[in-house]
Amino acid sequence: MHQPSIRDLASADPEIANLVESEARRQYEKIRLIASENYVSNAVLEASGTVLTNKYSEGYVGKRYYEGQQFIDPIETLAIERAKALFGVEHANVQPYSGSPANLAVYLAFLQPGDTVMGMALPMGGHLTHGWSVSATGKWFRSVKYGVRQDTGRVDLDEVRQVALAERPKVIFCGGTAIPRTIDYPAFAEIAAEVDAVLVADIAHIAGLIAGGAHPSPVGHAPVISTTTHKTLRGPRGAMLMSDAAHAAPLDKAVFPGLQGGPHNHTTAAIAVALREAATAEFSAYAHQIVANAAALATALADRGFDLVSGGTDNHLILVDLTSKGIGGKPAAQALDRAGIELNYNTVPYDTRKPFDPSGLRLGTAAVTTRGMGPEQMAQIAAWMDQAVKAAADGDEAVLAQIAGEVRDLTANYPMPGWV
Ligand SMILES: *Cc1c(COP(=O)(O)O)cnc(C)c1O
Repeated sequence: MHQPSIRDLASADPEIANLVESEARRQYEKIRLIASENYVSNAVLEASGTVLTNKYSEGYVGKRYYEGQQFIDPIETLAIERAKALFGVEHANVQPYSGSPANLAVYLAFLQPGDTVMGMALPMGGHLTHGWSVSATGKWFRSVKYGVRQDTGRVDLDEVRQVALAERPKVIFCGGTAIPRTIDYPAFAEIAAEVDAVLVADIAHIAGLIAGGAHPSPVGHAPVISTTTHKTLRGPRGAMLMSDAAHAAPLDKAVFPGLQGGPHNHTTAAIAVALREAATAEFSAYAHQIVANAAALATALADRGFDLVSGGTDNHLILVDLTSKGIGGKPAAQALDRAGIELNYNTVPYDTRKPFDPSGLRLGTAAVTTRGMGPEQMAQIAAWMDQAVKAAADGDEAVLAQIAGEVRDLTANYPMPGWV
C-alpha cells in the first residue's frame, strides 16, 4: 500500500486513488533503471503533501508580495542555507519549478534574444534546453553545438574550444542527460574564460553524486550551476539555481518576476528535507554505491557482449548501443518493460537510426541503489537483460513473462520508501 496513506483520497476519488496505488505497486515490483528517476524518502513525500501547497508567497524571503509568511520564510531560508552548505556555493535560488524553467531563467539572466549560446547537441547527450532546435532555447537564441568523438564517445575539448573561439557564445552549458563520463569542469572553465562566456554547469543528473563526493564539483569553475532536485539528489520534482555572488542578482530577477509567479512552497519544504538527508554520511555512502553499482552493471553487460558508449561509465549512467544485438532500442526497451525492467530507449552518438526508433538504451542505478541493491544484483540484472533482449529478437513472450516473475521475487526483498 501507498505510504503515507491515501485513505481520504480513496473515499473522495477512488478512480485517482486506484491509479496511485497501482503506480506505487508498479514501482515496487519493477527494477527501475531510468537514469533520471529515484525513490524519495517518506519524509520527502510527507513534506510534498502538506498544507504548504495552500500558500502564495511571490517574491523572496523578507520581500514578499503577500502577507502571512511567518512560516514560509524560515522554510525557504532553511532550503537556501542547506543548499549553500551542501554544495559550498555563495548563492542559491530554490524556486524554479523544474529543470527546464531553471535553465530558461539562465537565458533570461544573461542573454538577449538572438544571442549565441553553446551546448552539447541533444543526440550527443545534451539536454533540450541547451539550445536544441525544437526548444524555445533553440528558437529564440542562436545556438551552436559540440558533441563527443566517434572513436572515444567522450567530449572533444579541442572541438569545444574551436567552436567557442569561432562562434563567441555568451553562455556555455556543460552537462547533459546521457553522459556516462566525468565532466571536466576546469577545462570548460578555461575555454569559457578565453571567450568571456558565462559557464553554466547543468548538474541535473549528477547533483547527488556531487553532493556525496562521488563526482567532482563544478564549484569554483562554473559561476552558475543549474540542477533538478529529483534525480540522483533524491528530492521532490523541482530545481535550484546556484551561483557565486556576482551572478546572484540577475538569476533571482530572472526566476521572479522574470519567469515565474509564486513558488511551490510544499516543494521548497521537500527540497529542504532532501538537502538535509543529502548532507549525511549515509547519503555519501549511497552516492558512492550508485557509482559502484553502475560500474558493476557496466562490466556485467560488457561481459555479455553489450557495446557501451565510451566503453563504460564513471557515474550513475550507462548508454548501450544495441546495433550488434540486431534489435532497435525501442522494441528492446518495450520488451524489457514487459520483463519487469524499466528503462528508456535513447539515441547513441552518431546514431544511424531515427530519434523515435534509435539504437540505444539508457540506464542508471540511482533508484535500485536506493532500494539497497548491490553489485550481485547488478550482475543478475545484466543476465536478465541479456535473456530479455534475445527473447525480444526471437519474439519469445514466455521468456519475458518468466523474467518478470523472477524480477518480482527479487524486488520483494528490497523495501521501497512510499510503500508498505
Ligand atoms: C532532467 C534535466 C533537465 C530538465 O529537468 P525537468 O525537470 O525535466 O524540466 C535539464 N537539464 C538536464 C541536464 C537534465 O538532465
